[in-house]
Formats: sequence, structure tokens, C-alpha cells
Amino acid sequence: MNLLETPIEYLKGVGPNRGDLLRKELGIHKYGDLVNLFPNRYIDRTRYFKINQLQNNNSEVQIIGKVIHIKTVEQKRGKRLVATFIDDTGEMDLVWFQGHKWIREGLKINEVYVIFGKVTQFGSTFNMAHPEMELLAEHKASLRSAMQPVYPSTEKLANKGISNRVINKLMQQLFIETHVLFTETLPTYLIDELKLISKKEALFNIHFPKNQELLSKAQFRLKFEELFFIQLQLITKNLIRKHKIKGHPFEIIGDNFTNFYNNHLPFELTNAQKRVVKEIRNDLGSNAQMNRLLQGDVGSGKTIVALLCMLMAKDNGFQSCLMAPTEILATQHFNGLTELAKDLDINIQILTGSSKTKERKGIHEALENGSLDILIGTHALLEDKVVFQNLGLAIIDEQHRFGVEQRSKLWKKGGGDLPPHMLVMTATPIPRTLAMSLYGDLDISVIDELPAGRKPIQTVHRYDSNRLKVWKFLKDEIAKGRQVYIVYPLIQESEKMDYKDLMDGYESISRDFPLPDYSISIVHGQMKPADKEEEMRRFATGKTNIMIATTVIEVGVNVPNASVMVIESAERFGLSQLHQLRGRVGRGAEQSYCILMTGFKLSEDSKTRMETMVRTNDGFEISEVDLKLRGPGDIMGKQQSGVLNLQIADIVKDKDILQLARHHAVKLLKADASMEKPEHATLRKVFIEISKKKTIWNYIS
Ligand code: ADP
Ligand code: MG
Repeated sequence: MNLLETPIEYLKGVGPNRGDLLRKELGIHKYGDLVNLFPNRYIDRTRYFKINQLQNNNSEVQIIGKVIHIKTVEQKRGKRLVATFIDDTGEMDLVWFQGHKWIREGLKINEVYVIFGKVTQFGSTFNMAHPEMELLAEHKASLRSAMQPVYPSTEKLANKGISNRVINKLMQQLFIETHVLFTETLPTYLIDELKLISKKEALFNIHFPKNQELLSKAQFRLKFEELFFIQLQLITKNLIRKHKIKGHPFEIIGDNFTNFYNNHLPFELTNAQKRVVKEIRNDLGSNAQMNRLLQGDVGSGKTIVALLCMLMAKDNGFQSCLMAPTEILATQHFNGLTELAKDLDINIQILTGSSKTKERKGIHEALENGSLDILIGTHALLEDKVVFQNLGLAIIDEQHRFGVEQRSKLWKKGGGDLPPHMLVMTATPIPRTLAMSLYGDLDISVIDELPAGRKPIQTVHRYDSNRLKVWKFLKDEIAKGRQVYIVYPLIQESEKMDYKDLMDGYESISRDFPLPDYSISIVHGQMKPADKEEEMRRFATGKTNIMIATTVIEVGVNVPNASVMVIESAERFGLSQLHQLRGRVGRGAEQSYCILMTGFKLSEDSKTRMETMVRTNDGFEISEVDLKLRGPGDIMGKQQSGVLNLQIADIVKDKDILQLARHHAVKLLKADASMEKPEHATLRKVFIEISKKKTIWNYIS
């Protein structure tokens, strides 16, 4: 048996109890898992402090000295163990709140120790709680370098005496027993080309760095390897899917598409839209099933792309559907698309939760006899009763609102033996590098260009105390004929309070913007759909100047004359939500504004969010900041991006390495798709092993 497969408790210094803890707290089951427990950071331990040099700045220091005395101090809140520690410049206290027995037993009085930890000052005395201690002789002999690794830990591990030093010792033991077994995992030509250090050298230097330079090389090599294997997995999976899952080939470009494209486009497509239509066209024309993610910032014009695709379906004798997350949005799509296609001979219908029974019946029939070409709707489309004659293309708008499950339901509505082609559209831009990792098995198209002539939205951050000035500004804009959104947060847990905020806001705005000069619409979650609809309509047709709303309007609403977006309590919204909301304005020819209202006291994160919004309109940039703020988390060391569980690489910080890894993975698989060439023998073995262990096919949904 491979020694690296040995259960961790057999490692000298571990045993059943510690083994149990390592398993539960850090997921370390075998020798091989411990090797792959990578440090979070490193501490420079070349420097030794004297006690009279200590300062009360909460930094970690190491000191050489002796324990001369040890005592237990009884307190109301429990016992403390206090040792007096001295060097030739002074004395200080070492303190323990737990583990008294083994410390008393193990600690040697009057022997020279190196202690390490954070110091704090109480009165005139410095003290160090739960120091790491090592006899000077041992310290000198140990396999340790200037850059001392700090490993991921948990409170429980720390409390049970498995300190960083203990992990370090276990690691030494492990290397003594097993280092000869660390074999190369990457092909030689790749190591040469990228000038990588060997696997063995990398592992050694990640745990016991000889110097800063070797540490960097070790980190680069291991990060590259981790991302490289993930990319190999994702790309392979994509190839298999394309190979295996057949789809309906849309062989022709027919009359409807050509007629619309040549005679009825209301504007010229942007180059990005043209490119994306081509990419989709290529997919649909092949006989593999399309599974494509269409990313495009708010306002980039995804709807027209969707229509063009649905026309391709029609021309090839297939039905298509478009699913939106809300009734308002579905209705808007229905109205918009009906208008666009008014000169074509196409039957478009809408199905939502509030469709009448009679309408439903008609739709069900038309779907089954094939006279209905395009069905637009909400998740009502997923009901069992909705049966298509031949669904060739399913489009999902704003896909982050829908789960994987719903996607697979649509998948099964194909009618025939083959699944429909799937296009998911999202306006939540995911940084490209992350998208590559998350959606590596979907194909991705990006509309990275806004229609010409749009003026960038101007965004400002204002405190509540500036409200009068803000209101004055709104009045000026309304006087110019513009319309205004004022949005209040709605967060599930405090729905009642939010509702009250909204109503209070409504009242005071009604006072400040009185009839007959001003008229106000209001839309919120507790209204009946029909009332919401009516209020939206009044605003959309310019009957009201101000729309007060909760985040109901977040997605997709299109009122080009609305040019000001005021977001109340903006600090309570996440970045992507703020960006989505802001995207409701800037849709017409006028200069548009977004005003972020907050209280005066803001957390660091909130400040960053406001600054980011003010600085940029670029959805991709915003989502990168968002990702930095929210994760991949580094909670007590356990790296959890929430999506990918990476051991050493960081999706955000290491995006260049990710790109490099992807590039080489693509190249390798192009040359040798099944990794059968002799130079890929080891790679293939590792690949199969990793694939067995890890499932990384998570989607953001
Ligand atoms: P989103 O990608 O946010 O769904 P829409 O499809 O709703 O964007 O388009 C936003 C607005 O831009 C719509 O009013 C649409 O008619 C318009 N639009 C889309 N593409 C273009 C274009 N190439 N030129 C001019 N206007 C466009
Ligand atoms: Mg849209």
C-alpha cells in the first residue's frame, strides 16, 4: 500500500485522539492529506525580542528566556495558570486558561526556552497567553526555517493543544517518513516550459521554506498544479458532454430570421451582439446540444439576441420558450417581443401564475398542436401540464434566480428524444476567471459592449443629512421632464420593518412632492399582481413622476425616460444588487444619475461598496470587488470559496495563474484528449485519482 494512504493516527505524535480531531476539524484522514494542508501565511522568525523591547502593539514576537516560577491563580471566572518568565532585561507573565495539567507536568523550570506569541500589556506587566514554547536546544535542531508557516486551525484544535507548533512537528515527522514518495505529477515538458520547480521541492518549501524566493516558486508551482487539474476536469467534462449529448440541428437560416434581420431590426446590433449571435448560431447548427451562458451587463441588449435565436428555432420548425423570474419581467418581454415581431408571422403567447384558466387551455392546446411558436412566462412554464409539441430552444433570463433543478425540468420538456438547446442569460457579471472555473462545462458568450450613444450613469454617495439637497435635485430633474425611482431595501428577515420604512418614506415623499405638481407610484411585494402591474404601467407611460419601490424592480424593468435612481439605505444592499438597481436608469438618451443614500456610520465593507459604485459602471469590475469582499472566505484558515474548495490557489488573487493553467490545459487536451500519450501517463493517473475524489460541478444558481 502507498504509505501516503496510511490513516493519520499512525503518524508518530498523532494517535487516536488527535487523529479524530484532525479528521473532524481539518478533514485530514491520511498522511497524504496532511502533506496537502498548506499554510495560510508565514511569520518571520529570524528576529528575537528582549523583554524590555516589548511594545503594546499586539504583534507576534519570539523571546529567549526561562520560567522561574509557576502558580495557579483563582478567579471568579475560573483558574489561570501564570508563569513568570525572565531574560537578562526584565520579566513578564505567561498565562494559560486551559490545559493546566499538561503544562504543569511538561514545563521545565530554569531551562532556556524560545517562546512565541502575541503580547499584551496589563498595567506595567507584559503577558503572553498560550505561548508556543520550545526548548532552545530543540528549537535550534528543528527542521525549521526563517519563514515559519502558520497552518489553518480551529478553536477546538487550539483548545485541545494542537497548536501550530504541534502541526509543524507532525509535518516534520511526515516528511521524515514519506518525502521520498512525493513523485512528479506534471509532464516534464510542461515543467521545463514553465520553469516550474519539482513537486518534491515545492512541497518541501511550502512547509519549510528555505528562503522567500523558493517559497514563491513553491507557491506558484502548487497553485498552478491545482488550477491545472481543475481545468483539465472541466474541459474534459465539456468535451464529453458535447460528444455525448446530441441536439436538434438547426440546419437552415430561414425566412423569419432573414426578414427580421434585414428589414425589421430597430437598431444596428453592436459588434458584441453580432459576435454572440454567430457563436450561438454555430452551436445550433451542429448536432450537439447547446448549453450556453450568455453574460451581458444590464442594458447590453440580451433580449434582441434571444429573439434572433428563437427565430432560428422557428425557421427550423421548432418551438421555443423564454422564462423570466418575475411576472413583471415576463410581461415586459412579452410586450417587447410582440412589438419587435409584429410584422412577422409568428405566434407569441404569455403564461404566468395569473393567466386565466381559459387562456391556459388555449395555450396548452396551441403548444401541443404546434401552432404556438414562442411561449414567454414565469416558472409557470415548468408545470407538468405545459407540454410542447417540439421544444427546440429554452431560454432562461436572469438565471441566478433559478436553480439547477428548474433548468433540468426545462431540459426534459423537449418533446422528442432530444433535449432542447439551452441558453441562460445573466446580467450578474461573473469575473471571467471565475466563470471559467464555475461554468467550465458550459460555453460562455459575453456581450462586453453597450449600445453606442449611452451616457455613463453618474453615481454619487450622499448622507441622509443631505436629503434636502437631494430632493431639490429631483425636483429639477422632474421639471426637465424626467422620472425618478426611489428604492427601499427589502430583506426577508425584517420584512415588516422594511415595509414600515417604505410606507414612512412614501408618506414623507408625498408631503415633499405634493399633488398636483407631482404624482407618485408605489410598488411593493405585498400588493396584488394586478395592482403592481397597473402602477408600473402608470409610471412606464409617464403618468407618474416618481416610482417608490422595493427591490421588485431590480430585474429587467425598462423605462427609458426614468433617469434618476435614488437608493435608500444603500449600505444594506450588496454590490451586485446595487449595480442591478442602477441599471434601471441610463436607458434613454438623457444623462442619468444614481444617488446612494446612507447613514453616516458605515462599516469598512459598506464604504468600499459605495466607493466602488461611485468609481465605476463596469459590472465585471464590480463583481470582482464583490468577490473580494465576500470571499473566498478564509475563516480561521479553512478556505471555502463557497463554491470551489481550493487548497492553495485563490480564485480572485491568482487569476493570472488560472488563465495560464487554462491555456495549457486546453493545449494539452487538444493534442491528446484522452491523455494516452506516454508523456502523459502520470498525469492521467493523477487526473483519474482526483476526479474520483472531487466533485466540483457546482453552479451559482
Ligand atoms: P438587457 O441586456 O439588460 O436585457 P435589453 O435587452 O433590455 O438589455 O436592452 C436594453 C435597451 O437597449 C433596450 O431598450 C433595447 O431596445 C436597447 N438596445 C439593445 N441593443 C441595442 C443596440 N444594438 N443599439 C441600440 N439600442 C439597443
Ligand atoms: Mg434583460
